[in-house]
Amino acid sequence: MKKDHVIAIDLGGTNIRVALVKGQRIVDKIQIPTRVYKKKEQLLEGIMGAVKVLLKNAKRPKSKILGIGIGTAGLVDSQKGIIHHLVNISGWKNVHIKKIFEKALNLPTYVDNDVNVMALAEGVFGAGKGASNILCITVGTGVGAGIIIDKQLYRGSSLSAGEIGHMPLGIGGIKCNCGGTGCMETFVGNDYMVNRTRKLLKGHRRSLILKLACNKPLEITPKLLTKAASLGDKVAIEAWKQTGRYLGIALAGAVNLLNPEVIIIGGGMAGAGKFLFEPVKKTIQKRAMSVPARAVRVVKAKLGNDAGLIGAAELVREEQ
Ligand SMILES: [Zn+2]
Repeated sequence: MKKDHVIAIDLGGTNIRVALVKGQRIVDKIQIPTRVYKKKEQLLEGIMGAVKVLLKNAKRPKSKILGIGIGTAGLVDSQKGIIHHLVNISGWKNVHIKKIFEKALNLPTYVDNDVNVMALAEGVFGAGKGASNILCITVGTGVGAGIIIDKQLYRGSSLSAGEIGHMPLGIGGIKCNCGGTGCMETFVGNDYMVNRTRKLLKGHRRSLILKLACNKPLEITPKLLTKAASLGDKVAIEAWKQTGRYLGIALAGAVNLLNPEVIIIGGGMAGAGKFLFEPVKKTIQKRAMSVPARAVRVVKAKLGNDAGLIGAAELVREEQ
């Protein structure tokens, strides 16, 4: 029996998924809603129980498993294997998850944040397959990135590289919850885009947007704006164009800095498809320097929800 299977864990805000993974194939999976767990101890026990069930189902002794890879939301020390904080789990503070798992399950354990893990998955098996230099970003409520340089994840000197959402786009601007002002996230994050669209709507009473939102401006979401845009609504198309332009300006800076072969865009907003990607691509070509601009492809993430598990498994293989 070859050592080619990995236990992968995706610790998300909505679901916790534990899987047995081989390459990019998810052999078996257990999914538990995160809200089931309130306390740190419950959550750790729940995950360990799921790992044991998977191993039993697969009739695979622990000695034939490469290790455990964990991708998680929240702040992580990937070197020491600490998850500093997990939202809604009481008692979770600076938890040495690597130590706890290695002691309890006797398998080498690695942990990193969800965006880095996604970048690994997309880089090895997904939209960046074959490329050496990749910028992988997720755009939703927040904006984050995983950077791959020469096929290696770049983590930075204090392991916090990739915070592209907090790259300032101007001298002034809106105060951001990171403490900065004018961060990229305050231009392209979900809530900011929706707020701007509400302003754009003034004077456009015939726009479909409010109709789709049942006349409740608070119900407007990027998903609804994509629907309105695909029905030809001019305000929605303009809202995406604006957001794409802002994102493109930030990415033009990243293109000049990193000279990547491919930029992979994932997260909820990538669902807007051409309405977002066209202005992003156009802006990069216009605003980045011509040599790196010509070299870069901008593509949509491919692996969807599975990227978390496939990338967590890759985290273990990377260490072999
Ligand atoms: Zn910020």
